[in-house]
Amino acid sequence: MKLTPLESWIVDRTGIQERSRRALEAYQVKKVRETVEYAKKNSLFYRKQLKDIRTEDIRSLKDLQNLPFTFPQDIRQNPYGFLCVPQRAVKRIVTLNTSGTTGEGKRIFFTEKDLDDTIDFFRYGMSCLTDRGDRVLVLLPGNAYGSIGDLLKKTLALSNIGCTVHGVLADPEEAARCIEERNITCIVGIPMQVLYLSRAKSEVFKKRIKKVLLSTDYVPEVLIHELTQEYGCSVFTHYGMTEMGYGGGVECEALNGYHMREGDLYFEIINPDTGEAVENGQYGEVVFTTLTRQAMPLIRYRTGDIAAFSSTTCPCGTFLKTMKKAQGRMDNRVELRENQSLYLRELDEIILDFKAVMDYKAYMDIESILIVGITTKNVEDFQSLKSEIAHRLQDILYRKLGYGMDMELIFNGENKPNQIANSMIKRKIHDYRKVR
Ligand SMILES: [Zn+2]
Repeated sequence: MKLTPLESWIVDRTGIQERSRRALEAYQVKKVRETVEYAKKNSLFYRKQLKDIRTEDIRSLKDLQNLPFTFPQDIRQNPYGFLCVPQRAVKRIVTLNTSGTTGEGKRIFFTEKDLDDTIDFFRYGMSCLTDRGDRVLVLLPGNAYGSIGDLLKKTLALSNIGCTVHGVLADPEEAARCIEERNITCIVGIPMQVLYLSRAKSEVFKKRIKKVLLSTDYVPEVLIHELTQEYGCSVFTHYGMTEMGYGGGVECEALNGYHMREGDLYFEIINPDTGEAVENGQYGEVVFTTLTRQAMPLIRYRTGDIAAFSSTTCPCGTFLKTMKKAQGRMDNRVELRENQSLYLRELDEIILDFKAVMDYKAYMDIESILIVGITTKNVEDFQSLKSEIAHRLQDILYRKLGYGMDMELIFNGENKPNQIANSMIKRKIHDYRKVR
């Protein structure tokens, strides 16, 4: 098995003298201290937040645990408070609108160097899955300068790999035509959109697509299984969010979890209730600190994602950490009763297992009825699936609660392009009971 290309990349970028955790962690401590110093000096938010922190007290990565967390709402409240460079040095601003909440979206700023760092990471990340024989179709937004599609295109151009940035999937027919005409072998896209395309155009998909990189949202296991088993694809997943500079980690050939971008980001996994670090192998909330960011460094940023560090070495042999696949977001659930919740990922594994399902949405309505709106190829498919899906959902609820609960399955439209979850907003299970 090929050693992850990320390892050499990180060794080169960091300039560490030996390939070991000790050397990498010494580098990370140095960069954390620089970042704290830089952020205190240049950002209004951190000047206040870290006023009692002395960088000389940060002697080890463990000492970082004495620093306060940064929360997404801190950015939402005043994004400019995080900005460390003059506005003219900002080359890209990404506004993340979180659905269901009021107020301003989060704004994330990047300088030219920040974007170049991301391209550099993408280059090595993409080399985990592509070679010169591949032609890549990117089903992500790519029109704007510095957008994820734009960065991927630049990345692949550096490696002489053909790349078409199609944009977010709106018309499966057109995407299929593009795959045929351009001899596409590899797709990069959002999990639910790739699922949609593969089910809507299964013949083209089966014939042409060898590799898939799923990005920007939690990836249901049933989707990986289907793409692997039925279409013969190698499925890579990627972990990242805009706040990380898009890229956080990518799988190696072992397809066994992510190796992280450890030269640019320091990751912790904590117990979300106590804020304390958890042991390797245990699940907790992912927290990261940027080590090289210019426009907007983030220190101990709470991602809301649930994951774990692997307690064993990856079969590829790297000394880099391996993070087990993210289990979705902590808040992506509805509470059924105290200490008992239903997670979106659990619904995914049940509902998406039915091949005629193209998409779905779920929420708890004001009367505490679980509503599941399902998009299928046609209404007949929905009629034939409805009772089986309801049965399986009641099963899981019964296992959690010891009793069933009120539920309604509704037909959410046929296979129409405008029904595709066509935004970069992460999928969410909503709870309208809170409105009361
Ligand atoms: Zn590996």
